[in-house]
Amino acid sequence: TAVLVTGASGFIALHIVDQLLSQGYSVVGTVRTKEKGDYVYSQFSAKYKNPKLTLEYVKDIAELDAFDNAVKNHPEVEFVLHTASPVHSTTDGTPEELFINPAVNGTVGILKAVEKYAPQVKHVVMTSSFATVRNADKAGDKSFKHTEETWNPITRADLNGDVMPSYSLSKTLAEKAARELVASTSANFTFHTVNPPFVYGPQLFEASIANPELNFSAEKVKSVLHLPADSKGPFDNPQVLTIDVRDVARAHIAALSDPAKFANKRLLPTVGRSNPQRVLDTIRLKFPELREKLPVGDPARGEKEREAKGFYYDNSKTRELLGFEFIPYETTIYDSVKQILDYEEAQ
Ligand code: NDP
Repeated sequence: TAVLVTGASGFIALHIVDQLLSQGYSVVGTVRTKEKGDYVYSQFSAKYKNPKLTLEYVKDIAELDAFDNAVKNHPEVEFVLHTASPVHSTTDGTPEELFINPAVNGTVGILKAVEKYAPQVKHVVMTSSFATVRNADKAGDKSFKHTEETWNPITRADLNGDVMPSYSLSKTLAEKAARELVASTSANFTFHTVNPPFVYGPQLFEASIANPELNFSAEKVKSVLHLPADSKGPFDNPQVLTIDVRDVARAHIAALSDPAKFANKRLLPTVGRSNPQRVLDTIRLKFPELREKLPVGDPARGEKEREAKGFYYDNSKTRELLGFEFIPYETTIYDSVKQILDYEEAQ
């Protein structure tokens, strides 16, 4: 069985591709450049003997027909996992250029390409985000539980030039556009979204640590690990929910064996509230040898802030549907940090 994974060079997508290959699926991955393609291919070739991996080049998903050729070239593809979307903190450009056009057009573009050219596709998964769920004004409100049905009320009018609202808006508009299109399509595929909050965990390939910056979320753990011992806190902002990248990948693949069970679902995988102080506390706990090198911050205050300003949720539907236990927070942080330390030691 062949699966198309868009944005295959990404942090989450590499784990998805890896899990697919290890389970015997054939993968068609889209990447933007030859350089990224060569990296992806060489890493998987080192891990698997003759990996069943073909790459297609898709430069800019802001173009509505960007995926047409990749989809036409692979009539064997039965599942599509759409992960490509901009995640960065660049502010040099308009919200449309930086986030909205690639997020919305990329999502609409892949769905239209499947509609037009790939009647054999059975199921499509979109990597959406907790950003489409989160109600910022309910931060710290214990009586407001974010669930699989909650939507971020953000609209274009809420943009004030900040990067984070543009990202949240881009994902919200993209998921809404996808659900509208799926509701009215005459094509046969079913559809679900995975809406992860901050995704932590190891890079699939240790070599990725060599990048001056990791992807947006993993970089946050690295930056706590590299805090100088004398840095002054507080380290208790921002408040986030987290999930391990390996579980996010599993939540994409889960539908492949039973698409009907996942039709129109919205998955909210998370293990709980975090902030930089909790990352710091966990590193200090799990790596006693680093305690001298890192600041202490204020663990009690960090916890208080998480309770007072964090997001409350009930994701029992997601847990029941997926039917597996999520990797505990401490393990995720341990594995992320261990990989960076191993890499740095080898240099
Ligand atoms: P990465 O930045 O590692 O991956 C994003 C991928 O999308 C890259 O392969 C990137 O290619 C590709 N991409 C971005 N813009 C374009 C474009 N204009 N045209 C073509 N390809 C493009 O991030 P993640 O793995 O973290 O993110 C993957 C998905 O997960 C995204 O949809 C994101 O919104 C979602 N997500 C991530 C979370 C997180 O905490 N990491 C949380 C919630 C959702 P290139 O690198 O070559 O630019």
